Amino acid sequence: TVRTRIAPSPTGDPHVGTAYIALFNLCFARQHGGQFILRIEDTDQTRSTQESEDQILEAMRWMGLDWDEGPDVGGPHGPYRQSERKDGYRQYAEDLIAKGHAFYCFRTPEELDVIREERKAAGLNPGIKGDLELSEEEVQTRLAAGESYVIRMKVPDEGTCVIEDRLRGTIEIDWSQVDCQILLKSDGMPTYHLANVVDDHEMKITHVIRGEEWINSAPKHKLLYQYFGWEMPELIHMPLLRNPDKSKLSKRKNPTSITFYERMGFMPEALTNYLGRMGWSMPDEREKFSLAEMIENFDISRVSLGGPIFDVEKLKWLNSLWVREDLTEQEFAQRVQDWAFNEKNIAPMLSFIQGRVQTFSDIAPLANFMFSGMLPLTAEDFAHKKLDEEQVKRVLQFILWKLEAQRHWTKDNIFADIKAISLAMELKMGDFMQPIFVSIAGTPNSWSVMDSMAMLGPDMTRARLRYALN
Ligand code: ATP
Ligand code: GLU
Repeated sequence: TVRTRIAPSPTGDPHVGTAYIALFNLCFARQHGGQFILRIEDTDQTRSTQESEDQILEAMRWMGLDWDEGPDVGGPHGPYRQSERKDGYRQYAEDLIAKGHAFYCFRTPEELDVIREERKAAGLNPGIKGDLELSEEEVQTRLAAGESYVIRMKVPDEGTCVIEDRLRGTIEIDWSQVDCQILLKSDGMPTYHLANVVDDHEMKITHVIRGEEWINSAPKHKLLYQYFGWEMPELIHMPLLRNPDKSKLSKRKNPTSITFYERMGFMPEALTNYLGRMGWSMPDEREKFSLAEMIENFDISRVSLGGPIFDVEKLKWLNSLWVREDLTEQEFAQRVQDWAFNEKNIAPMLSFIQGRVQTFSDIAPLANFMFSGMLPLTAEDFAHKKLDEEQVKRVLQFILWKLEAQRHWTKDNIFADIKAISLAMELKMGDFMQPIFVSIAGTPNSWSVMDSMAMLGPDMTRARLRYALN
């Protein structure tokens, strides 16, 4: 039976690209009467968080992309979280050493940089190759001395690796371009490559449908399957989503978090529908279709490789069709109520507002910006007693750049970022905060803007700052 998977790394907000790839995996599995698996790839312990994992699962469910096996629902091939499969990977890596396909490497990253530079200077291939392998004796001495090491796979020095891709045909990559990849890190965790291959095998995955960013990893994976003596799943590399300017979709230009689209009040059906139009079309080219209709008509060979453009305006238009055509008045009322007045949205906010109202009807103007998309702002709104227009712009630009790099979206971290920039710009906190208040809340007199930024989330916050700058 056909088995596909989505294998997100829980290192950030739930990405529309993850939902996009998941959608195609789901359709392919369902169309063949197979199974769709969700596996959490959390081998990067410094970047993975439980919060991110929870958000990814919730966002995927919200979009209707349900999985048959996964960390929350279980299944016969679990655990479905790589950090819980740690011991197995080490065993596999050591097996490869025993078979002569991998070796211990004791070089530090700094030493490797030096080696690369020396090779470059001598006109040689700067890649990390099997010549780093030490004698058995030296390895044993260093292991006994407790030196830190990684395990690397051996890769041929020359020749070409040939990969078959269902959409792209034959892809050839020179082995000289491929490093002796680390399989097991010094912290004992596997790298993506080892864990991904081991798990796809153990979870009996038959088709790997993933983004084209992974094509260059395919030779290493193919070699690992050969070393292990396992059959390799079929590979299908999807085109990546693009910004309207054709660059790779990125949060610096476009909101990429599913949570943003939820907060903007998009219907999940419409977002799923729109992602289904990214590089794919129905046989009759109709633009609006449900997930069930997509599954019914699915054909992976209809995926076109030209980079699909994720255009929020187009998505809005499609969403408007869903709102008008697919909801009864009653359903519309229910959806709006669920969207606006759910506990998650409203409870934290009300605690800030309670002390500021005389009657309940005072709530609307105080809360309005929490239920809005981009706020209608004019230059006058940004008029400032102390700062001129240029300075206001710089405040917004600097804080936007700072927040783009913020990986852990909490009030405390937002506060620290704001503080750092205001110090660097030598501005008083009050003067500095005013343009931020206006961008986020539409007025300088709102309740705690940092709390509202924390609640609005990174993508909505950044989108409003970008919008204010334009
Ligand atoms: P950004 O450039 O906005 O920082 P990113 O590449 O850092 O984005 P990641 O957090 O690395 O985003 O990716 C999260 C998931 O989303 C990964 O599984 C990745 O494959 C997927 N993804 C990221 N960008 C795209 C894209 N343009 N199209 C499809 N999938 C994408
Ligand atoms: N963990 C990888 C990611 O974040 C999975 C890539 C794959 O599908 O092989 O995209």
